[in-house]
Amino acid sequence: MENESWVTGNIVLRVNGEPVEMEMTVPDFPVKPHRMLPVFQQMSSAVVDSCVRAVEDEGKEISCKAGCGACCRQAVPISEIEAYQLAELVEEMPEPRRSEVKRRFADALVHFNNIKWFDKLIGLKDLAYIDDPTFSMAKLNAVTTEYLHEGIACPFLEDESCSIHPHRPLVCREYLVTSPAENCSDPTAETIEKVPIFVRPSKAILNVGRTRKMDGISSLMMIEALDFADRNAENFEEKTGKEWAADFFQVLTSKSVPPPNSVPSRKRRKKRWK
Ligand code: SF4
Repeated sequence: MENESWVTGNIVLRVNGEPVEMEMTVPDFPVKPHRMLPVFQQMSSAVVDSCVRAVEDEGKEISCKAGCGACCRQAVPISEIEAYQLAELVEEMPEPRRSEVKRRFADALVHFNNIKWFDKLIGLKDLAYIDDPTFSMAKLNAVTTEYLHEGIACPFLEDESCSIHPHRPLVCREYLVTSPAENCSDPTAETIEKVPIFVRPSKAILNVGRTRKMDGISSLMMIEALDFADRNAENFEEKTGKEWAADFFQVLTSKSVPPPNSVPSRKRRKKRWK
C-alpha cells in the first residue's frame, strides 16, 4: 500500500533518573495493535540497554550469551498481542519447521495440562486479580519454580539459542543476569542477580489492545500462544500508530501522555509494515 503514510517522533523516557531517547516511526493509519510490536520491542531494547549500562558502570558483566538457554525453561508470560504475533510467525515458517515448532507447543501444553500445572497457576492469578488477601507472591514463585523443574524448553529454543531472537517477547528481553550462567538452571533469590529493569515494557504491553478474553488472568504463558490464537479469532480494534504509542506509554509511565497530534513528527512514506 504505497500511499500509507508514516510519522516519526522522538520520545524521551526517564529510566532510573537517566534520559533514554528513542526515535519511533509509526503508521499514521489504523492498524491492529500487534502491528506495533516492532516499536514496543525497540523501546524495550532501549530501556534494557540503559539498565545494562547502569550495571556495567558498577563493574559488573552480563553473563547471558548466545548458546545459554537456561532461562528458556522458565514459564514465560506473554501478552495477548504477542500471542497473535507468535502464532503468525509460526504460520509463516517454512515446512517442515512449522510443523516441528507446532508439535513442540502442543507437547508442552499437553505436559503441563497433564500435571495440572495451569490449574494451580490460574487459581493464584485469579486471587491476585481480585486482590484476595490469601494471594502470595511466594506461592506464585513456587508454582513457576515447579514449571522450571519440569525441564521443558520453550518451543523456540534450538541449540540452546533463541530461534526467533529479533521477535522474542518483551519479557525475554528484560531477563538478564550478572550472576554465573550455570546458576540459572536452578535459580533462587540467593544465587541469581538479575539486571534491575526500572521500567517494565513487558508489563505495560499486557494492557495494550487487550480484548478481555483473558479476564481473571493477567497474562498468557508462551506455550499457550498457538492454542489461544487458534481458539480465539483475533478481534482487536484498530488505531493509528500514534494512538497505540500513547496507550503504551500511558500504561508504562502510569501517566497521561500528550494527545497523539502533539507528538512531534515529520511525514514519511514507507512500504507496508508487517
Ligand atoms: S522466545 Fe526465545 S528467549 Fe524467549 S524463552 Fe523462548 S527461546 Fe528463550
